[in-house]
Amino acid sequence: MSQDLREIRINPIVPSESVLVATARGNRPKKAEELAPRDSRPHVATCPFCRGNEDKTPPAIQTLPDDINWDIRIVENLYPVLGDDREQPDLNLGLQQTIDGYGRHEVIIDHSNHGIALHEMSYSHIALLFKTYRNRMQVLYESDDRLRYVLAFKNFGPAAGASIPHTHSQMIALPVVPDNVQVEVDHSHQYYEKHHNCVFCSLIDEALTFETRIYDRESGEVRRKIDVGQYVIERGEKFIAIKPFASRYEWEIHILPLTHQADFKDASDEDLEDFATVLKHTMARLDAVLGGVQYNYFLHSIPHNRSFEENIPSYHWHLEITPRTSIPNGFELGSGLFVNTISPEEAAEQLRNAEITKE
Ligand SMILES: [Zn+2]
Ligand SMILES: [Zn+2]
Ligand SMILES: [Zn+2]
Repeated sequence: MSQDLREIRINPIVPSESVLVATARGNRPKKAEELAPRDSRPHVATCPFCRGNEDKTPPAIQTLPDDINWDIRIVENLYPVLGDDREQPDLNLGLQQTIDGYGRHEVIIDHSNHGIALHEMSYSHIALLFKTYRNRMQVLYESDDRLRYVLAFKNFGPAAGASIPHTHSQMIALPVVPDNVQVEVDHSHQYYEKHHNCVFCSLIDEALTFETRIYDRESGEVRRKIDVGQYVIERGEKFIAIKPFASRYEWEIHILPLTHQADFKDASDEDLEDFATVLKHTMARLDAVLGGVQYNYFLHSIPHNRSFEENIPSYHWHLEITPRTSIPNGFELGSGLFVNTISPEEAAEQLRNAEITKE
């Protein structure tokens, strides 16, 4: 795709959000962020999250499979909520006071290998990690019925705001729903009222329709493929990774269950095994295209607020992955309009064409 593109795209989930896609060759490329290289050592003697240094963290809340040879370890966060990692996706500063006086903040040490990247972890380990998020989320919600949202997220690499290099994710239990989740919930509910359909399901259907092949009625051979899966990056049996049509970040990807499900906590073990495959392949594609990808990811699931029941048909849980490749410029910060200099179609094509190993 070499055609120059210059258009404002409206986010179909959150129509108040828009992005300017401007790919004209004459455009000055956005200044690439000087990425400090990520730490890929398997073990670091001084790291509080490495095996053998368990006494350097607060006592473990949970270890899997056991205390000594653990693969995943959950600990209480030692640091104030916004002090640990520079940037918390999904949290605006207004929430800080609420969280400081309340709420829970836990660190999940994702793997015993210090510097392992997600796409280097085994399928079963990634599935275990997301089963751990799910189970922990369940426990937290059950522990206090005043909790409205449990946010699971990961910052990977210095560019993504991770201050501790050992691979880890975090879980924050909040008495309020983060604004950007509430906006998604409200808009998808309005969409549902109007169209009697979940907007996320509609977008998946649309993406899959692009995959349609035209078969010859007599011979049964493929006669023509229509724009094969323009926005589809990966597809499993139960999950799909999609490049959003109005991506704010050049390499942003969302992973969603193919059949409607509002609550991440309802994902079965089997679901999460398929999810792990789709996520590992997606991360491998990002790594192949970007080389050592640094990113944030966060889970959006139905909030536990008063409208829980009525949002079940309209909300659809998903994982948003936002790789960090450039710093937002003054125009973006001042206008709130993100500028994307690689068209989502072009990015999707590069990601799909990346050569990755699938075991
Ligand atoms: Zn470590
Ligand atoms: Zn849906
Ligand atoms: Zn979302």
